[in-house]
Amino acid sequence: MRTTGKNNRQSTARRSGAPSSRRFRYPDRGSLLSPIRKVGRPLRRLAFGSPLIVCAVALVAAACSGASGAAHTPTPLPTVAATATPAPPDLTVFRNFIYPIKGACLPKNGSLMPNASRDYRGGIHEGVDFYGYDNCTHIAQGTPVMAAKDGVVVRADWAYHSLTQPELAAANAKIAAGHANDPDVLDLFRGRQVWVDHGHGVVTRYAHLSGIADGVQVGAKVAQGQVIAYVGDSGTPESLSAPGTEEHLHFELRAGDSYLGKGLPPDTVRALYENLFVPLNPP
Ligand SMILES: [Zn+2]
Repeated sequence: MRTTGKNNRQSTARRSGAPSSRRFRYPDRGSLLSPIRKVGRPLRRLAFGSPLIVCAVALVAAACSGASGAAHTPTPLPTVAATATPAPPDLTVFRNFIYPIKGACLPKNGSLMPNASRDYRGGIHEGVDFYGYDNCTHIAQGTPVMAAKDGVVVRADWAYHSLTQPELAAANAKIAAGHANDPDVLDLFRGRQVWVDHGHGVVTRYAHLSGIADGVQVGAKVAQGQVIAYVGDSGTPESLSAPGTEEHLHFELRAGDSYLGKGLPPDTVRALYENLFVPLNPP
């Protein structure tokens, strides 16, 4: 949802699970690592792995972050640190996805990408918006939505009913009272949804749907490219006030209890998502 953004701020509490208190936290990187803390080493390496590995190795030589070590007697490097080669990251966790709409591409407009601000309600956009006006293909009401990768359906809103004026009024009252990020408010504005679990803490969310494909039930396995739903504008305030103006797919790539790219600069986020759709083994 672009014009109001009321449904763009997603819950980070829904899939909460307290991280281990024994786990070391990087004091100044907590916000950056939080979204990927749950998905294990592959993603950590993907987002930060190389700098951390370099830094860790370089720390031994007192070279990281400009440390000079000039006041200390040099300590011989342990053989293992000097020769060890880090294992390559498992890029398969965040590679080999396909765009959820046939022929689609990432929008050029940064406001449709993750981390775009939604100032009107203090929110941050947590997904990618696929609108027909900023994409590589036609996108409209009823456009088929495909599973971005093999997975298992963990949510399918078959019982969804369209947003009502009283629901919208109640949600706006909660937002005005400072509860814009309450999970129920966030969920309301995402409309009809399907979620697919791909393992490794990775879940894709497909929101504002107009319908769900036959057989897409919780627990069902879906294959990459399988049509699972259809584009719509469900959950958007415009679905009430200006029908036909907000049809788009809001697509999220959840990483643990947050989303891929949280807290990272726009160029880095775009690179992460571009890599997401690069096949590991191109035909
Ligand atoms: Zn969106």
